[in-house]
Amino acid sequence: MADLTPATVAVTAGRPAHEPDQPLNVPITMASTYVAGGDVEYGRYGNPTWTAFEDALGQLEGGRCLAFASGMAAASALLDLVGQGANVVMPRHGYNGSVMALADLEARGRLSGTLVDVTDTAALHAACADAALVWIESPTNPALELVDIAGVVEVAHAAGAYVVVDNTFATPLLQQPLSLGADLVLHSATKYLSGHSDVLMGAVVTADDELYEVVKNRRSLTGASPGAFETWLALRGLRTLHLRVERAQANAQVLVERLRDHAAIEEVRYPGFGGIIGAVVAAGPDAADLLVRTTSLWVHATSLGGVESTFERRRRWKAEPVTIPEGLVRLSVGIEDVEDLWRDLAGALDRLPTTR
Ligand SMILES: *Cc1c(COP(=O)(O)O)cnc(C)c1O
Repeated sequence: MADLTPATVAVTAGRPAHEPDQPLNVPITMASTYVAGGDVEYGRYGNPTWTAFEDALGQLEGGRCLAFASGMAAASALLDLVGQGANVVMPRHGYNGSVMALADLEARGRLSGTLVDVTDTAALHAACADAALVWIESPTNPALELVDIAGVVEVAHAAGAYVVVDNTFATPLLQQPLSLGADLVLHSATKYLSGHSDVLMGAVVTADDELYEVVKNRRSLTGASPGAFETWLALRGLRTLHLRVERAQANAQVLVERLRDHAAIEEVRYPGFGGIIGAVVAAGPDAADLLVRTTSLWVHATSLGGVESTFERRRRWKAEPVTIPEGLVRLSVGIEDVEDLWRDLAGALDRLPTTR
């Protein structure tokens, strides 16, 4: 059927045909090699379990998908799209693995990188002028800043640059960058797509057949292939993406209001959608560290997008930029009951001082 809504696509895409005795779910194909004469031939070139996941995510994003071993494996393949010495523009508050990968390539003379404050639209557009690749995250992590993707695409394309959008935070349910003109979408499928904190996986989606072949070739040559079991779990997770995102977002919206009213919180960052909140603890980093250790439902852990609520003080990571407040706690809101989540969080917040 044409024109299915994303919820229906999430549930139905990438299924075996409705024929007698076909399983409803694609099997986990454990295979390093295939009988010669077909299209796949070898385990690094393709796998039917990958294909099912790729069909589903490709349909949700509106392009053709390639599954990768992790988000960073996919990111590395995309950073390799441009030639020697090319300039890559990236948000200064981008995912710090991506920012570190770019810095590493720059240190070794492979690329040059330009980090920009994406809230400064004029500076962002100016940086695009001599870029070969413009890397966008919206919202950024964990500053939760937003970018006008269509506006960047226009300027970047005029300069002859590709536009990559890391859509991990928004998911294809809340934002479809290809429909805004982006060339490539990147996912850490580790996060919302899989959704259960038990899989590391990544993906690239593009509507450009040439780019698809180039990225597929890079996956084959670098061996950045996902495991069949991981891919099966990611697809199983994807089946409930819409329900999880809906619930996480509804919970987050309630928590944002209450955090804004709590005296122990100095500032709340929330882009208006999604399940990630940035909350700056008024009494500073030590109080933030105390907060993340004194809850019982909220788990002190990095990563995000799982069914369970997790949080961490981001500046505990050495690589986190100094422009992120020391006391900022990033909350990944899960799908538990919001009143239970608030009771747990408020209990810990009430014990904090309200000033430094
Ligand atoms: C986690 C993450 C990545 C990296 O993905 P991995 O699966 O951990 O390799 C990239 N971008 C964003 C926005 C992420 O949150």
